[in-house]
Amino acid sequence: MTARRSTRQRDVIARVLQDAPGPLGVTEVHACAQAELPRLGIATVYRTLKLLTEERRIHPVLLDGETLYETVGRGHHHHFSCTRCGRVFTLHTCPVTLPSSAVYPGGFVVEAHEVTLYGQCPECAARKTGAH
Ligand SMILES: [Zn+2]
Ligand SMILES: [Zn+2]
Repeated sequence: MTARRSTRQRDVIARVLQDAPGPLGVTEVHACAQAELPRLGIATVYRTLKLLTEERRIHPVLLDGETLYETVGRGHHHHFSCTRCGRVFTLHTCPVTLPSSAVYPGGFVVEAHEVTLYGQCPECAARKTGAH
């Protein structure tokens, strides 16, 4: 494999994650990247995701025991996991009213938080309504 080819694979995979509506699992990255790189193997996807993580261009997100990947630098956001189709979306709204540096009862000083929302994505919610 030439260095140029592996750079192209890295660029395509980085762009797939950049354009995704939320973090993606390895198989989803593989499926999306294959649109541009039909001969791309799953082993290469694993290797490239590891490389991009080391370069700090992406980082892993652990959700329901599965490792997903997303582009770094998205700012403060949360993930919405659709219980119907299983897709995960990035939401730039924050449901937490407790501000950072607030002191939680008992003397716990809050520095950060992690919240995952579960429910139905717009597509699944529309489908459900349509069935009635
Ligand atoms: Zn859905
Ligand atoms: Zn938040």
